This record gives sequence, structure tokens and C-alpha cells, in this order.
Amino acid sequence: MIHLPAQGKNKEAVLEAMKALRQQDAQWRQGRVFSLVYHVDDELTSLLKDAYTLFFCENALNPSVFPSLRKMETEVVAMTAALLGGDEQVVGNMTSGGTESILMAVKAAREWGQVHKPGLQTPEMVLPATAHPAFEKAAHYFGVRPVRVPVGPDLRADAERMRAAITPHTVLLVGSTPSYPHGVVDPITEIAQVAQEHGLLCHVDACVGGFELPFLRRLGYPVPDFDFQVPGVTSLSADLHKYGYAAKGASVVLYRDGGLRRHQFFACIDWPGGIYASATMAGTRPGGPIAAAWAVMHYLGEEGYLALADQVMKTALKLRAGITEIPDLKILGEPAMSIMAIGSDRLNVYEVGDEMAVRGWHLDRQQFPPSLHVTVTPTHAQVADLFLEDLARAAATVRKPSLRKLANAALLRLAGTAVRVLPERLVSRLTGFGSRFLGGSGSGLPQRSAAMYGMLGTLPNRGDLHELVLDLLDQLTRVE
Ligand SMILES: *Cc1c(COP(=O)(O)O)cnc(C)c1O
Repeated sequence: MIHLPAQGKNKEAVLEAMKALRQQDAQWRQGRVFSLVYHVDDELTSLLKDAYTLFFCENALNPSVFPSLRKMETEVVAMTAALLGGDEQVVGNMTSGGTESILMAVKAAREWGQVHKPGLQTPEMVLPATAHPAFEKAAHYFGVRPVRVPVGPDLRADAERMRAAITPHTVLLVGSTPSYPHGVVDPITEIAQVAQEHGLLCHVDACVGGFELPFLRRLGYPVPDFDFQVPGVTSLSADLHKYGYAAKGASVVLYRDGGLRRHQFFACIDWPGGIYASATMAGTRPGGPIAAAWAVMHYLGEEGYLALADQVMKTALKLRAGITEIPDLKILGEPAMSIMAIGSDRLNVYEVGDEMAVRGWHLDRQQFPPSLHVTVTPTHAQVADLFLEDLARAAATVRKPSLRKLANAALLRLAGTAVRVLPERLVSRLTGFGSRFLGGSGSGLPQRSAAMYGMLGTLPNRGDLHELVLDLLDQLTRVE
């Protein structure tokens, strides 16, 4: 048990203790991490911190008390709408992140369905297999049935298969620009047209692409149409805290018009505490992320975003070309921007990931098909060559047969049997592997996960896997 300390410590001691804790964390500043942190440079970060702390105490729950926050939030939303093809009718809100933006869009679609489809009981949403789990989360929270549709061989959504999945209960179709796993852009024009033909809503998940694709297009890169310029697109999400380079806790959800957004809102008029209304999920909302987002948009301007998009895309293209040249490795699909997946027809890419971890690189593991995920940020320009050299070495190491691989294979067979025979015992063993299973590998974390992933692939029952993952979550949020 950990208790509240009886006496307080001084500020320096508290901060020192926290700095010591960070020693074990992943080295994102050195470009060793390919997800989670979107770092530009120290100057931009210090602007974000200054802007954030300027509005550190203010609360955006009631914008009429803080006209400053209200002005900044509405301007951030308006600038985002203009960037993404919106006209004067397009409205939106800032949220804490892509997940909350998506939760809101799905919630709005559900309420819309209740109004426009009388008698509707369980609303359905049709989405490609690659759409972000936030949609699944929204479905789980709001009682919407997610109908997953396989993607085509190019890993993009298949609009005709989505059409075939529409039922009288469908309210919403979803496409991603790009999809997070592979960085490919779904055919939004086609999906939105199908939605329109059936009188349905269409959400574009531009969480990761919303602040990069418009700039790439202006730079002359081929970018398919995906925003409010496409007829039939009714809502859209774009994350400021990714390629908008804002402080974490900042995303925008946009709607074609105010009528649709109204379904997102919540009001409670009978509370003794007064009439309570809130536009998004959260009650109390920090002012910091709003201020930092407004600050970075004014600091960079279109010119700054163009320069960053150019730099990031050049690094991404260099990595793509380099990866394709490494024997037995390939890029999955045709990524449209600076996120991509490394796969292989011959090598176990999880083992390649392990070899990269040994060399200090953190890459997330993906499945169906197995791949390693790469999110390129400005920090990676300086390490691209080193990364490619290490990746070539990692692939070469995996190509050679070794004792460790034989041991892995044996462990896999053994574990496969164990799952069938003794699931509870296995659970307790697996939880010890928690962080690597979930893809983490900072300097202090375990680095080898290929055997684990191989074993999870052999689990006979997906329900067991679901329970295992919940156990891991439980374990990760307990004091060690
Ligand atoms: C990151 C991401 C999300 C979820 O956003 P969070 O900010 O992590 O909640 C949703 N969709 C896509 C495509 C993303 O890249």
C-alpha cells in the first residue's frame, strides 16, 4: 500500500524524484520512438509550455467566464474548418483528443438516427477494419453496433463492400485519411457518395492526417480529396496534438452544419446546481491545451506548417525508399503521408522489431498482417540514416537461424498447448510481460516480444485474448 506522505517535501525534492523516474522512459528526444510524441524543436516546445501555463488555472467548462478561452477555441476550430474545406456553415468544438472527437461524432450520429429513423433500436455504423479503435470504443459506450468491413488488397476501405453492409439500422459510414495502421487514405469520395445515396452520415477520421495532408497537397504531393469539399462528408476529426504540433489534449471535431452538431450537445436543466450544459464529453476542461493550440497555429502559420510537412515528408520518403531496398522488408500499401507499416513476406517482423529494440529503437507491433509501425516526425530527419543501417542489420540478424529462434519456436509450441490446458496459469505469467505485449519498450523495459506475439497468434479463442488484455490493463494500473 502506498499512502499519502505524512509530511510534505520541498518543491526541489519533489521535482528531483520525478526526474529520476524519467530515466527509465523511452528516448523520444533522440528520435528513438516512432509514435506517441510529435516533437519539433525546443523553441516550439517552450512556446507551447508558456502558452499552456498562461492559461493553466482557467477552466473552459464555462466559456462565458473566460472570453479569452472562448475566442481562442472558436478561432482554432474556424481555422481548422477553413483548412479542411469547410464553408461558413461548418461548426465544431475542441476536444481532448482524437478519441473524444470520434466519441462525439458517433454520439451525434446516434442521436441523429433517433430523429431521422423513427423506430430505430440499435443503430449501426459501417467502418473499414483499419478504422481506429476509438470508433469501437464509441460503439461500446453508446450502444451502437460496429459493422467492420474488410479492406481491399491495397489496405484501403472498399466502398462497395461498405455499401453491402448497410442495413435499415445503419446511421454512419466511416473512412480514414489516412488509416493509422498503414497510412493509406480511404476512398472518401466513394464512401461519402454511398452514404449520400442511402441518406446516411459520413465521418472522415483525419485525426492523424488533418494537419498534414492539406499542406502536402499545397506542396504538390498527390493527396486524394477527403475533406468538406467532398459532397456527403458530414463530420470530420483532426488532431492538433499530432501533426498540428500542439500540446497534448487538443483535437477538433467538425460538422457540416449546426443542426448536426446539436446532436452532440448535452444539457441538464433540472439540477439544483443550476442549468448545466456542455458541448463535449468533459465537464471541467483545461485552458492549457486550447491556449497552446492557438499559440502554435499563430507561431507556425501556413508557412511554418508547409515547411514542417515538407521536411517530414522528405524524411518519410527517404525511409520508405531505404526500407524497400532492404532484402525481405517492404512497406505495406501506398502510404499517402508520413506514417507507414514495415512488413515482410519472409521474415518474422516481430523479431525484426526485437532486434531494433536491442539497438534502442521503439516501433509499435501491428497484426493482420504482422508489421511494425513508423510515425515520422521532424525529430527523425537527423536519425534516418542510422535507422536504416540498424534496420538492415536487424533484418540480417533475423534472417540467420539462431539458437534463440529455435527456443522461441519451442516456447511458442509449449505456450500454445498451455493456453488450451491452463489458461489461468498462463495469464499470471503473461502479465509479467505486460509492457512489451502492449508494444512498449523504453530503455528499462523488456525488449523481446516476438515469442509473445507468435503465441498470441496461436490462441484458439479470441475471447481468451480479450480477457488477457483486460488482465494486463489491470496489472499496468496497479502499484508495483
Ligand atoms: C490518433 C488517432 C486517433 C485517436 O486519437 P487520440 O488522440 O489518441 O485519442 C483516431 N484516429 C486516428 C486515425 C488516429 O491516428
